[in-house]
Parts: sequence; C-alpha cells; structure tokens
Amino acid sequence: MFDVAIIGGGIIGCAVAYKLSMYDLKICVIEKENDVALGATRANSAIIHAGFDPEPGTLMARLNVEGTRQTPELCRRLGVHYKNTGSLVLAFGEEDTETVNRLYDRGVKNGVPGRRVLDGRQARELEPGISDTVTGALYAPSSGIVNPWEYAIAMAEVAALNGCVFSLETEVSSISCENGTWLLSCGDRQIRAKYVVNAAGVNSDLIHNMVAEPSFRTLPSKGQYWLMDKSEGKITSRTLFRCPTKAGKGVLVSPTVHGNLIVGPDASPGSRERVNTESDRLEYVKATALESVPGINFRNAIRTFAGIRANTDRDDFIIGIAAPNFIDLGGIKSPGLSAAPAIADEAIRLLLDCGAELEKKENPVTDREHVVFKDQTDEKKRELIRKNPLYGRVICRCETVTEAEIVQALRSPVPARTVDGVKRRANAGMGRCQGGFCGPRVLEIICRETGMNPLGVLKDKAGSYILYGQTKEADNV
Ligand SMILES: Cc1cc2nc3c(=O)[nH]c(=O)nc-3n(C[C@H](O)[C@H](O)[C@H](O)COP(=O)(O)OP(=O)(O)OC[C@H]3O[C@@H](n4cnc5c(N)ncnc54)[C@H](O)[C@@H]3O)c2cc1C
Repeated sequence: MFDVAIIGGGIIGCAVAYKLSMYDLKICVIEKENDVALGATRANSAIIHAGFDPEPGTLMARLNVEGTRQTPELCRRLGVHYKNTGSLVLAFGEEDTETVNRLYDRGVKNGVPGRRVLDGRQARELEPGISDTVTGALYAPSSGIVNPWEYAIAMAEVAALNGCVFSLETEVSSISCENGTWLLSCGDRQIRAKYVVNAAGVNSDLIHNMVAEPSFRTLPSKGQYWLMDKSEGKITSRTLFRCPTKAGKGVLVSPTVHGNLIVGPDASPGSRERVNTESDRLEYVKATALESVPGINFRNAIRTFAGIRANTDRDDFIIGIAAPNFIDLGGIKSPGLSAAPAIADEAIRLLLDCGAELEKKENPVTDREHVVFKDQTDEKKRELIRKNPLYGRVICRCETVTEAEIVQALRSPVPARTVDGVKRRANAGMGRCQGGFCGPRVLEIICRETGMNPLGVLKDKAGSYILYGQTKEADNV
C-alpha cells in the first residue's frame, strides 16, 4: 500500500512527486500514457509568466507569482533549460493601452516585481522587430521561458531516485474507499493508498466525480502553434504577448530555450484528447503574429502542434480537499506551468490538513545530474569523450546530440522507451529535420539498449508503431 497515490504524470503530478519525495513516504504516480509529460505539459507556450494576468486575490495570482519566483533556482538544481527573458504585452491603440494599464495595476496588486509601462518608441528600442503600429507595452522583467517536458521529467527522475514509483500505462477508471483506504481500479490492477492527489489535467473533473459530487466541469480548449527554425529565433529576445481577452492570453511570439521561435496559440473549443492542427486556425495564428512582428518568415516553420487547456466552468484553479484524504489539483490551465512548484507546496499543505504525517528524509536527492554535451566547454567535451567514447558519436546532427546522451535517456530513473521519449529527454529529433535523419538510429539504439524488437518500438503514444513487417516468429508459423 502507498501512503500517497498521485493520479497524473504531468508537470503538476511530477512537481508534487518531487516535493513529496523529500519526505519519508511511499509514493506512486499513476499515469495512463506510456511516459510522463504527455498531456498539456508537452504542448504549451513554455512561458514562466510574471503574474500580472490573473485576477488579484485568486489562487492563480498567488501561486503564479510564487511559482515564478521558485522556478529559476529549481531549474538550476534540476539541470533544466530556463531563461529569464522578460516579456512585453503589446498595445495597438487606445483600448489596448487601457488593458496594459489595468494589467500594470494587477501586477502591483499581485506583487509582480519590476513591471513598467512603455510607450511605442521605448518598446521598439527594446525589441526592434515589433511592428511600427505598436503604441505601447507592459514590460515585465521577471517572466521567463523553460523546456516544460524536460522540467517535468527532471522532477520525475529525482522523485524516482528518492523511491517514488511511476506506474505508466495505468489508467484510473474507478475509485472506492475501503476501511479508510482508497482503492484505485486501473484495468485489472488495483492500487491502494492512504491519500490521493488528483492531478489528472483535463480529466481532473472525471477523477473528482469518482469520489465526490460533481462540482466543476472541464471545458477543453485547444491552442495551436507554429514552431520555427532557429533562423527565426533571434527576431525577438523577449516573449511578446498581445493584450489578453476572455478567450486567453492571445497569440504570442517568443524565443524558446533551444533558440527557436514559437508562435501561437489560438483558442477554440476542443475535446479532451484530440491534438490535431487545422489550417484555418494556423492561418489565423500566423496573421495575428505578423501584426506583432511583421518580419517572421513562415517558410521557416519546422512543425505545427496543438495542446489542450484544462479550462473549466470556474475561473480559478480548483485546489482543495474533495473527500477525506483526497486532494484535487484540478482545472490547472495557464499559468499552471509557472505555478507548478507553488501548487505542489499547496498540495503538501492540504495533505497536512488531512492529517498526513510528513517527516523529512535524512538525505533525499534534491538535484539532478544531467549532461548536455553541446552546452559544455571544449575542455569538458574532450574529458567526456575520453571517459566515454559514445560522447564522440553525434547521432542528432541538427541538435548535436551524442549517443551517450541517448543512452543516458534510456537509462534514466524514468527511462525513455519510445523515439519521442528519447527526444524529450535528450533533444534528439528536435531540430530542423525533426528526426528525419536521427530517428532510425535512435530506434536502433533503443533496441540495442533495451532488447526490444524493432517492430515493437513506438514513436510516441500507444499504437504509434514505426516499422511494419513480419517477425521471424510469424515467418515460422
Ligand atoms: C495551449 C496551451 C498553452 C499554455 N501555455 C502556458 C504557458 O505559457 N505558461 C504556463 O504557465 N502555463 C501554460 N499552459 C498551462 C500548462 O500547460 C498547464 O497548466 C500544465 O501543463 C498542466 O499540467 P497538469 O499536470 O495539470 O496536466 P497534464 O500535463 O495534462 O497532465 C495530466 C496527466 O494526467 C494523466 N491522466 C488523465 N487521466 C488519467 C487517468 N484516468 N488515469 C491516469 N492518468 C490520467 C494524463 O495522461 C496526463 O499525463 C498552457 C496550456 C496550453 C494547453
């Protein structure tokens, strides 16, 4: 039996697992997919928001600002790519100027450090790529950018080193309570736990309804993006927002931690699972982004993708005790990525309220050791190759990812088992060719390291087979 079962291995479940793993507890993360960070956590804008957007006094406002404060140090400890870039909310005319002023006031109330209102000229001095039609901007220096799935995986890896169990491909389908213990039914498996944390993203309402009366409903909202080649990555050094509307924060243009440019998202009603892109929505995103930054060359797009927001019929995050010893971390829409470490603290506080006894471990692992070859100095690179010649074999030429880093991904405490799992841990396939060259070599290394049959290797989620053909066994039949 576990002390705490966390349902959902997105950034929220992984942050809770990371922070709880510092205590003497038996913890498991139950995730329905074949890897962590496969929900909203892998398809978002990757911005660590300053915190001027949420309504003052809400959980969202408080946890956003606190999460953003914690993120840089946490990323440093975990070896996660993070950059403090700052951001501008662009105004195009009088109505937007009023919004910018309102956001400034909210920033004051929410405790956002260093924010400033700029006129159009000052904004263009900071970011020469923005349109001549920009009349002003709200500048927020504390905002940043991060690699969201790397962040979640890093926290999962440290939690696993501290003994947290990751039960992947395990979908919670019903929950009951037996003598004060929660019984989670996952297909033909049953998992028992004293406390449960519901971090199931868009499905957090469904999980809540398994133990309590319905009190909120997910209204999934799809956001679609363009990802541009590094040739476009320097067109802005800060995140450029439009003024937010009821539908969301609008189409942004931002550098990524890997030096690419991300453009999006729009907002349209979606389903819980479907992440297809649509050409008319992408055209809308493109046209809106070009109003902000006219020089973006969309011929340099390398990928389009979509993510699903866990919007609900409530405006705030839904964080609370749903039933005895059962905690909801529901409706974690944007700025959930920014707020993640603070939401995890909130979960721990609620567990204490439920009566959980939390004793600190004596020497828990808190930091992650993770080598990114191309980030090293020449001297360090030579040393790495001397110690392990696999660092001398570049597998992904676009991103300069070595064989040693791919092996590291496959031997991680939460190991990659798919080609995209390797991509999320080692960055192989993230470049201009999007895995066209390195994909087959990654597949070979997966088979060599794990003993898997090549026909069984997946690109991504369940069913995404890469190779088709007859196996030897089938030939013998
Ligand atoms: C388009 C878009 C843009 C965004 N931009 C930003 C941004 O720039 N900055 C920011 O701070 N936030 C942003 N967000 C919000 C942020 O991405 C989310 O708040 C965050 O990723 C939520 O994490 P999560 O762990 O709650 O959800 P998820 O990452 O979706 O994780 C939930 C997990 O639960 C699993 N699960 C579901 N049901 C079950 C079940 N029955 N059994 C087992 N497992 C289950 C899922 O498979 C999934 O892995 C954005 C979101 C979107 C969609």
